[in-house]
This record gives sequence, structure tokens and C-alpha cells, in this order.
Amino acid sequence: MDFLEAIVLKSLDYKDSSKILYLYSKNGLQSVIAHGVKKMNSINRFLSQNGNLINITFSKGSFPSLKEGELVNDFPEIKKDILAYSYLNHIMELVNNTISEDSDHPKMFNFLKRLFILFNEKQDPEILCFIFELKLLYFLGYGLNFKQCNVCSKTKDLVFSIDNGGLICAEHLSINQQSYDSNVYLLLSKMYYIDINDYENFELSKNKRVIIRHIIDQLFDQYVSFKTKSRNILQQLQKY
Ligand SMILES: [Zn+2]
Repeated sequence: MDFLEAIVLKSLDYKDSSKILYLYSKNGLQSVIAHGVKKMNSINRFLSQNGNLINITFSKGSFPSLKEGELVNDFPEIKKDILAYSYLNHIMELVNNTISEDSDHPKMFNFLKRLFILFNEKQDPEILCFIFELKLLYFLGYGLNFKQCNVCSKTKDLVFSIDNGGLICAEHLSINQQSYDSNVYLLLSKMYYIDINDYENFELSKNKRVIIRHIIDQLFDQYVSFKTKSRNILQQLQKY
């Protein structure tokens, strides 16, 4: 039987010694039951940790059980850093709760693997998370428009509006609508279009981080209607 490479998004205790693993792979979301995995002498013990990349075989059926497994990468540097680990969990909660069955899973899975490697190389976890969230919006069908006014297609004197999911000109911006100038939207656009395979670290001021965090939270509120538990932990850690 072929091995399947998967990320452990979450694991839940099941009965006395077993766990249910919530996995993401090139085939999409999948849960498998890992029998006896909590026993000290279980060879599969190391497979059930959140954020691990594993290679497994499992039985067929609607609730398959784990047969064989091996660890590919446990990303040790991420787990030593509470902030990086919280961002990673935020990302995994989003994957587990927002991605639909008919998505391009091979593309998302490869993107996530690359992202986890960058996290483990101690690249800035907050910036990596911004990039993930902006690209996830596109992946979920809520692409942002950074090209022209959403209404009249004008390409000059534009601002970014959350309500419009992109750029808009002064004439078409409604009164009371919150908007952000090019200082902010050029950064958003840079992260939205960045190629994760050519990623290079860049600086971002605290002030800009707070603004971008706010914009992304609002976008997810409005378009995805899902908030992760890890987002609350991050808020406690970072105060914004
Ligand atoms: Zn316009």
C-alpha cells in the first residue's frame, strides 16, 4: 500500500489509549484513528503531535485506522517558540475549518509544507502568517483586488477598503467606510502576491503589523466568518 504524506492538524484523545488524527494531505482533509498510540511503548506515539509532517498508510473505509507510519519532520524549532507555535496552530485551525472538499489540495499542501519549513528556519512567524491568511482568502474564493477601482476601474488615487475587498477611488468610497492608503495596501499586495518559494525576509514596523493584523481580522470576519482559538492566544501574547 502506498504511503501518504500528511500534516497532523489536530489530534484528539479517543478511548483509553487511542487518538483521532486530523490530517491534511494532497487529497484534502482526512481523519484516521490511531489505535494504542498513547501507550508509552507504541512506535506510533511520535506521529500524533500537532504540526508534524508524517508518512502513513491506513485502512480503507469511512473511519480508517492507522496501519504504518513514519515521521518526516517534527519541525523542532517551531515547537521551542511559543509565538511561532501559536501562529502555526492558528494556520492549522484555519486549514481544518475553512477548506472545502473541492479545493486544489495538492497546491495548498505544497504551500503549507514550504511555509512550515520557513517557520522552522525561524523566519518571522507573523509575516508568514499574514502571507498565509491573504493567500487563503484567494484560495477560498475571496480574492482581493489590488489593480484598480472596484467600481469604475480607475487606476489612480486609490485606497484599500475592507468592505470592497480591494481598491476603490475616492469618488466611489462611501462615507464612513474605513480605508487605507498606499502605505498599507502596497504591503498587503506584496504579501498577497509573494512567491513562497522565493521568500526573503523583510522588515515590518510594529505599527504596520497592528494595522495589517486588524485588516486581516476584519476580512476574515466579513468573508470567512471563522475565528480560531489560537487567534485569542496570539492576542494575549501580543496585545493586538
Ligand atoms: Zn471608482
